[in-house]
Order: sequence, then structure tokens, then C-alpha cells
Amino acid sequence: MSEQVRVRFAPSPTGDLHLGNVRTALYNWLYARHTKGVFILRVEDTDKVRSTDEACENLLDIMTWLGLTWDEGPRVGGPYASYKQSERTALYEEHLTKLKSKNVVYPCYCTEEELELERKRQMGRGHMPKYGGKCKTLTAEERKKLDAAGKPSVLRFIVPPGEILVNDEVRGEVRFPDDQLGDFVLTRSDGSPTYNFTVVVDDALMKVTHVVRGEDHLSNTPKQILLYQALGYTPPKFAHLSIIKGPDGQKLSKRHGETSVESYKAKGYQPDSFLNYLALLGWAPKSGEILSLDQMAAEFDLTHVGKSGAIFDPVKLHWMGSQYIAKISLDDLTRALLPYLADAQYITREQARVKFDWLKQVVDVVRTNLGCMSDVVKETFYFFSDELHFDPTQTEEMKGQKPLIASFQKAFGEISEFNGENFLKAVKEVGKQSGLKGKALYHPLRMAMTGREDGPELVKVAPLLGKAEVLKRLNIWITEQVKK
Ligand code: GLU
Repeated sequence: MSEQVRVRFAPSPTGDLHLGNVRTALYNWLYARHTKGVFILRVEDTDKVRSTDEACENLLDIMTWLGLTWDEGPRVGGPYASYKQSERTALYEEHLTKLKSKNVVYPCYCTEEELELERKRQMGRGHMPKYGGKCKTLTAEERKKLDAAGKPSVLRFIVPPGEILVNDEVRGEVRFPDDQLGDFVLTRSDGSPTYNFTVVVDDALMKVTHVVRGEDHLSNTPKQILLYQALGYTPPKFAHLSIIKGPDGQKLSKRHGETSVESYKAKGYQPDSFLNYLALLGWAPKSGEILSLDQMAAEFDLTHVGKSGAIFDPVKLHWMGSQYIAKISLDDLTRALLPYLADAQYITREQARVKFDWLKQVVDVVRTNLGCMSDVVKETFYFFSDELHFDPTQTEEMKGQKPLIASFQKAFGEISEFNGENFLKAVKEVGKQSGLKGKALYHPLRMAMTGREDGPELVKVAPLLGKAEVLKRLNIWITEQVKK
């Protein structure tokens, strides 16, 4: 029997969770569920300056909200607790002692300025920058003197000669020639351990079998493999996921819009639709694009993950959101939208209770345009306010439409029961009289009634606005035109 898969998601709690991290978490989670393995959540909070408890709690909350439940980690514990790096200092010290006893580390006293100068010189000669090993050759006597003088030092790992081969589950064989790697830092001058060191100690002790993470960590992998070897551990398998890009092909960043999962939560995206969309950024499930987490887990495998970078497409995310919203019952959806309508001050909760049936019908006519709950604010504005804003080009287009709008006003005024059927009849009658049809007939009416270029069918909108309101809006339009 092959060993049980153990994967981990290891975020640093330094701020909001980036979409790329969520996709990494999701792929780890799916792989664990697919293989009936274990999904570990480990908080990498050794950067004391940037990590905060608040960010850590937020992170755990957002993972819970997403439904990416973890089998071992903070809040749930597990056999290798603690799952917070800040609480594992003794383990790092133990491993450091082991490395020291093997003589594979040395203190380095070079200052940031000296290192910067070295980097610049190397780059000037067209070489890849790496530490040249100046402090490696210091004698014990020299080190003693420097220590006595209070010179701060970091601890570096001695990179042994030889090419390093990474057999990546996604990218295939990746070779790192040994002349690319300089002796790298294991502990900072304040004694705190660096990422490359802690990640190896933790992955080894937590018996992680597969490290699935972003491509941006590929260059760290040879360093980590060397540390596994120096510590006498077997390295796990590695799978590096392609970076998510913006529509311009550059790494997805704030420049492209919202990149944190928190912002999508705030917009009212549902976690399952959001994860469904993210799952498709690097993986094409055979059974179609819309899948529940369980369906995804049944189908997902690391060998199916693509090598090329995926492009984040907000339009497709919106489409995915709308597919999930379509599955919600009208009652539930209306209730879920209420807080957004109340926040926008369109309606109070009390008014909503009284007019719930009307509200449901409003929701029903706009629901296909909603990718997330907050979309309801822009999609229903005109149902709650007649202060429609027309931009100058629209106003220009509408000039000369006054007689047409006046005909609508007259025709609608004569309707005794203002329902969809009678509304349509009246519009058609105006069409006949004016000789207009299609867009030429409906567009000016839509603009006058809703202030929008597009939207649901007017025959559905009109009865919800009611006769008095429609007539009032047509009147506002005519008066505005007269003023101009
Ligand atoms: N804390 C690292 C990060 O957030 C984890 C990288 C890894 O998975 O090894 O990028």
C-alpha cells in the first residue's frame, strides 16, 4: 500500500489572502480529498515584523468561510502541533544544532551594503548574483574577534557542489546548475530562522509527502532539497503551480483590480462559485466547468494541472457567480440580497418586510445579471429612485424624442389595469402610429423609464414600477428636454 498523502497549505499571515494563495490552498485540499489524504494548515509567522495575530485569525476565518476545512492545524490541533511556526522555535534550534555539528554552516558578517555591492558587481559582469563566500574562509580566531566586537552575523548554509534536479509533478524535470546557488542564510542576525529553513524542518517533521505551491517558490526548491539531504530527511514530491496572470499577461496584482479573497467575499461572491472559478485556473475538468467541491475532489489530480499560466478573467468569474445564483430559490435569494439593498439605503428592513412580494419580483427580473450579491445595487437602482442620471451622449441621442415619449405618456395614461399585457399593447399601438419599431421604439422608452442602455424586458419592469411612477418618469424626461 502506498503511503497516505499529506499536503499542506502554508500561508504567511501578513495581510489579506491573495487569489493565487487560495488556488494553491484549493489544489492542496482537492488533492488531499481525492487521495483520502490529510490536508494540513500551517501558519508561517516567523516574520515578526509583518505577521499579525489579526491577519492569522482572518486567514483561518476565510479558509473556514471558503469551506476548505483542514485536518491538522490551528484551532483543530493534530499530532505535530504546534502548527504555527512562531511556536516551533525549539525545533528549529534543535535542527540548527544538528547542522552545526555537521559543519555545514558558518557565520557571515557581511553588511547589507557589502552584499549589495557584490550583487551589483556580479550583475555588471552579466553574472547571476549569489553570495561569493567571503566569510566562509574566516578563521576561528577572526570569528571570535568579530563576535567580541559585537559585529552582527547571520548563519549561512554551505552549498555542496553538484547540479540539483527537481522532478516536479507539474513542470517535469527542472535542473539547477550548482554555480547558480550561493551559500544561503538559515538564521537572521536576530537569530530568527528564515523561510527556507523552517519550511524544511516543518515539512519533514509533519511528514508532508507533496509540496504543492506557487511557481514563485521554484527557485527555493533546490535550497530546500539540499537542507533535506543535510538533515538526513527524504525530500517530498514537489508540484509548482503556474502563476495567475492578469488579462495583460503580467502577474495578477492590484493593478488589475481586486486580488484578495476578502474583497470578493465583501462583494457577496458565494464561496462555492468562487472556488469553482479558481479551480479552472490551471485545470480543465473533463466533466464540465461547473462542479461542486466534492465533484472536483473526485476528479482532481496533480497530473492534470497545466503548466502554462492561467489568466484571471473577471467576466468569467461573474458568469460563474451567476450560474450559482441561478440555483438559489427566489425567497432565499431575496433575503440574501436584503442587506445589500439596505446598505445602499434603497429600502429599510421594515419596508422590505411589508413589500416582500414586490421585492421578490424585482429580484426575479434582475437575477440573471447578478454575478455576486452586491451586483443587486447597480442592477436595481432605478426601481428605488427616479433620480436617473443620463450621460451627455445619451441626452444628445434622446433629443428629438419628445413627441415619442409624449405619445407613450398618453397611451400609458389610458391604461386602466397597468399590467405587462396592457403595457405591451400600448407600446405596440404607439409603434403603429409613429411607424417605429424595435430599438427605435424601445430604446428611448427604456432610457426614460430606467436611465439605462440595457436591462430586463420593459414589459416586466413597467408593472413593478407602476403606472404613476412610469408616467412621472416620462414627465420628468419631457420637462428636462424642454429645459434644454
Ligand atoms: N509561507 C510561504 C508563502 O506564503 C509558503 C511557501 C511554501 O508553500 O513553501 O509563500
